[in-house]
Amino acid sequence: MLSTKTLLLGASRRPALRRALVGTPVTRRVVERFVAGETLAEALPVVERLTGEGIAVTLDHLGEDVTDPGEARASRDAYLALLEALAPLDLGPRAEVSVKLSAFGQALPGGEDLSLELVRPVVECATRIGTTVTLDMEDSSTVDATLAVLAELRRDHPRTGAVLQAALRRTEDDVAALATPGSRVRLVKGAYDEPPSVAHQGRRDVDAAYARCLGVLMRGPGYPMVGSHDPAMIALAERLAAEYGRTADSWEVQMLHGIRLDEQRRLAAAGTRVRAYVPYGVDWYGYFVRRLAERPANLRFFLRALVSR
Ligand code: FAD
Repeated sequence: MLSTKTLLLGASRRPALRRALVGTPVTRRVVERFVAGETLAEALPVVERLTGEGIAVTLDHLGEDVTDPGEARASRDAYLALLEALAPLDLGPRAEVSVKLSAFGQALPGGEDLSLELVRPVVECATRIGTTVTLDMEDSSTVDATLAVLAELRRDHPRTGAVLQAALRRTEDDVAALATPGSRVRLVKGAYDEPPSVAHQGRRDVDAAYARCLGVLMRGPGYPMVGSHDPAMIALAERLAAEYGRTADSWEVQMLHGIRLDEQRRLAAAGTRVRAYVPYGVDWYGYFVRRLAERPANLRFFLRALVSR
């Protein structure tokens, strides 16, 4: 039988549910918990509030799976506008951006070249204003293409960040290959439904793989970014940082906007570098459904809001 998670992740790419959910007031109310607004003007005060509290941000202009080059160019333009708006805030690396290459045309014909061509000016602009770009990782079919674009970008912009998903069987090799001096790698468990041929299935196996990968990153010469809300993984990261003599400025914890904010504040107050992943934009549907799929409590919260309307 299909699990709720599998059903939801399948729905995240189906237009019928998108049409049913988008625009209902209840959905909007629940979405607001995870998304910083539909416009840049709504997202910027969130950036100022979080950074004012000592929490750095990585901003995601929501959008994925574009279907023509015009939409891909619009993604580039949205990120350039975002970086231009960040420049006067003078936050430097405390406000960086995360991009999904599927929003830059990766899945279109000739998509690897197109996505590189369109993301390059975003990375150049980020470098100019003293910050960085991290390439989010999408489903397993995109990993090779994303790592190829990353390698190209890193020639001139070595601080461009990567994301690796512990759930994928290949990731232990990828982690070892990317654990190089200065290399910024966000390690996450993985948000996509993947078959057993490419991914660990059970939670225990994914957690064990995450711990192994984290060990390699924390031991290595790069800049690990611990992308998890899991207290066990955060505690492990803290232990490994102490064991390998890492200074507080040589790694960071990242959590999603709207999730475990008290813990984000606690860690930041204790001297750990913390960064919140802050999505904004009108195209929040895929992001939102992945959050529902990740955690039964998120789904229950949404269903409760629906029935108590
Ligand atoms: P889980 O395994 O979901 O949960 C473990 C434990 O953490 C729970 O038992 C609970 O104790 C605690 N916890 C988790 N969520 C909550 C909550 N809402 N409230 C309270 N406690 C909670 N995935 C990708 O595939 N590609 C990406 O590019 C990507 N980028 C990401 C960026 C960031 C900054 C983060 C944090 C995640 C990203 N993800 C990405 C999603 C990631 O892959 C996981 O799906 C997601 O983080 C859930 O896994 P987890 O490690 O947080 O903990």
